[in-house]
Amino acid sequence: MEVYNNPYFWKLVCVCIIVVLVGYAFYKSRRIFAKKLPTKQGLFGYDIFYADQKKEQGDTNGLEYGTLLYSEKYDIQGKPDYIFKKKYGKALVPVEIKSGFIKEESWPHAGDMMQLAAYFLLIEDVYGIRPRQGRLMYQDYMFIIKNTAAIRKEVKKQIVSMRKMLQDGKGEPVCSFAHCRYCVCNGTVCEFCDTRY
Ligand code: SF4
Repeated sequence: MEVYNNPYFWKLVCVCIIVVLVGYAFYKSRRIFAKKLPTKQGLFGYDIFYADQKKEQGDTNGLEYGTLLYSEKYDIQGKPDYIFKKKYGKALVPVEIKSGFIKEESWPHAGDMMQLAAYFLLIEDVYGIRPRQGRLMYQDYMFIIKNTAAIRKEVKKQIVSMRKMLQDGKGEPVCSFAHCRYCVCNGTVCEFCDTRY
């Protein structure tokens, strides 16, 4: 066929593929992404780099133990349970262990997800490496959470609103399935949330 011999046709095909791939990457970065899997320990190809534990006497494995990470840029601090570092590379992955079960829920608890997202910001500011993903590990399932533009935007919004609440003592209640489903006040004493989740 004539058209397949035309170099402009193939150029156009390449441009279309690039546009679709860029569009797809942009679309994915606009969403909060959480993939649910059965809980398993360790990360293949990674070593523990940081652990929120006390250093045992005589421990010489080079781990960073329990340092309080502080971000000057966002004025937040925290200690992830673990940070894993790629064996041959710089990639860092925060891991947060939860004592509860997630059962059939398809999403992690909103507060846990924001905690992990805050660690994304902290790690980026303290170590100069933006984690591409993190893990929330419940007793039965774990979630791989991608560090998308959407989750960063959400956690920054939450930080601003918490800071405002601390300053003026006023907070805006956020009624949603994600926020309220595990709250003991939902359907009992909460006067802000009309729906029982
Ligand atoms: S039920 Fe009420 S108190 Fe509980 S998280 Fe929702 S808005 Fe807040």
